[in-house]
Amino acid sequence: MTRRRIIAGNWKMNMRGDTAAALAKGLVTAVGDEPAVDVVLCPPFVYLDVVADAIAGTPIGLGAQNLYAADDGAYTGEINAGMLNDVGCRYVILGHSERRALLGETDDQISEKLHAALAGNLVPIVCVGETLDDREAGRTEKVVETQIRGSLAGLDEARAASIVVAYEPVWAIGTGKTATPEQAEEVHALIRQLLGELFTPEVAAQIRIQYGGSVKPSNAKELLGQANIDGALVGGASLKVDDFLGIVTAE
Ligand code: PEP
Repeated sequence: MTRRRIIAGNWKMNMRGDTAAALAKGLVTAVGDEPAVDVVLCPPFVYLDVVADAIAGTPIGLGAQNLYAADDGAYTGEINAGMLNDVGCRYVILGHSERRALLGETDDQISEKLHAALAGNLVPIVCVGETLDDREAGRTEKVVETQIRGSLAGLDEARAASIVVAYEPVWAIGTGKTATPEQAEEVHALIRQLLGELFTPEVAAQIRIQYGGSVKPSNAKELLGQANIDGALVGGASLKVDDFLGIVTAE
């Protein structure tokens, strides 16, 4: 089963509109018309429009960093899947560890968001990953399994193949510490096995699993070369054209 690699840049709460436009335009030129991988940019909500304009007519996809799982209504400050569609989003990151840790997002909420994303024709990028304490206490497997089961609750087999999972060990995010390719592959293989149990092995073989955590051009090739690593969710290195391009073109 060949899975097309997917490299997504999570710009988090960085930059202003002019920088967002410049970065997107720089990437349009750098990535070209026929990248060998799916490329996705996830700017802050308020700059989705700016980036949508910059990437219009190119193979680069647009993603949001979150959504609220409700139809239009009295939800002050929130943004739903329909609105994201409206500004050209095709993807949405869900359950990023920063949202889990800083905003107390739970697996139940992430599952609601997953269903809202799918109902709104968005591809959810569902993030899971253990903390350093979890890893040192030997709980990695258990934590990741609980997050996968909870976040994907109620997902039916027919739709499962279209989702993307991002394994992001929390201790490797923004710290410069990367999981070794072997450490990452071990968890990716475990996630794929679990997806096989939740759905079918055939469906699991189609689901793309990204690695995230201090991915940079110098470590991308080895990480992406692992059998069950199908792409990267990139934070820091997605903020510079050359660094992100180095990951997009890693072979
Ligand atoms: C992330 O935030 O998803 C991430 C992986 O960040 P970084 O690449 O900076 O570690």
